[in-house]
Amino acid sequence: MKYIDEYRDARLARSLATTIAHAVDPAKSYYFMEFCGGHTHAISRYGIEDLLPDNVHLIHGPGCPVCVLPVGRIDAAIRLAALPEVTLCTYGDLMRVPGSNGTSLLSARARGADVRMVYSTRDAVRVAETERTRQVVFFAIGFETTTPPTALAIRLAARKRLANFSVFCNHVLTPSAIQNILESPDVREFGRVRIDGFIGPAHVSTVIGTQPYAFFAEEFAKPVVVSGFEPLDVLQGILMLIQQVNEGRHEVENQYRRAVRPEGNERAKAEVAEFFELRKTFEWRGLGLVPYSGLRLKEKYAAFDAERRFSIENIPAADNPACECGAILRGVKKPTDCKLFGTLCTPDTPMGSCMVSAEGACAAHWTYGRFRDRARKAS
Ligand code: SF4
Repeated sequence: MKYIDEYRDARLARSLATTIAHAVDPAKSYYFMEFCGGHTHAISRYGIEDLLPDNVHLIHGPGCPVCVLPVGRIDAAIRLAALPEVTLCTYGDLMRVPGSNGTSLLSARARGADVRMVYSTRDAVRVAETERTRQVVFFAIGFETTTPPTALAIRLAARKRLANFSVFCNHVLTPSAIQNILESPDVREFGRVRIDGFIGPAHVSTVIGTQPYAFFAEEFAKPVVVSGFEPLDVLQGILMLIQQVNEGRHEVENQYRRAVRPEGNERAKAEVAEFFELRKTFEWRGLGLVPYSGLRLKEKYAAFDAERRFSIENIPAADNPACECGAILRGVKKPTDCKLFGTLCTPDTPMGSCMVSAEGACAAHWTYGRFRDRARKAS
């Protein structure tokens, strides 16, 4: 398949792995965080870590959109779905994410709530159009990649004068989260997380471009290489990071040039700017309250804002104390550090958000069995 097969070529992957092995300084250790869940998935799926020298370490970051949604927002969606007049439309992954006390949107649906899985924001608008007596709420989550389709849904609903459509907005921003990680006590004070550079997100960067990463590459002296999701992309991105570290550089580089431009997608950015504005602060699972890291609808589009329409309260709720998702999302722990991993918590019985989404670190580790390979090697 064009643009797929050539980036999964095993011979080229082995050759890149050899180049990486020659490039690393044996006296050094390298710690790179892949921010994006798509990269976490690719790293597990293709066994990238097994191709790297022992002194190159990959740390999973908080870039899985389902995983970073805090319990309080899941609870709010469940409360919303329980209203008799509401039809809550959402992507499939979100339905299984545990809220407080073992609840989820799926269990709410079993109790009679009208929760429907959709594949696109357009599907949700279509439900509002065909069922005018229902208040249709789209449960919007995700990073900069999924925000433009939400903006387009609002534009479409406005054009069709759909007074029964609204959005429960939980869209978040990548650069604010990366900055928060670099300023966190885990990185700065305690030194529990060492980060020498970032594998920058692929899809997000097709929208925002590479320019927004320049600030913290400079300010925190950390290289960023925006990389694609195919195995050769990831390997080449890691090689570029190693070269920057060896040369003492901290620049933003773009490995994913076939899709990402420095300025990003101006049309998508303009669409988002038309409908959304920054929240002063937004809660992330694992990171806590992160300033200017989330979006909400502008006053001009308040009629489409479910938070205003249904007076949704933000009631903070605690994570399951046995679940280590928070520490995993901060890069402090790995999935295999969690006592529940693979025992009480599996993709069939997820106890935390990181096991629900395919992009979650726990689900990726479990699905591709990398922990089993490592256990075998250690024995
Ligand atoms: S294995 Fe399950 S309980 Fe443990 S951190 Fe991952 S999602 Fe949470």
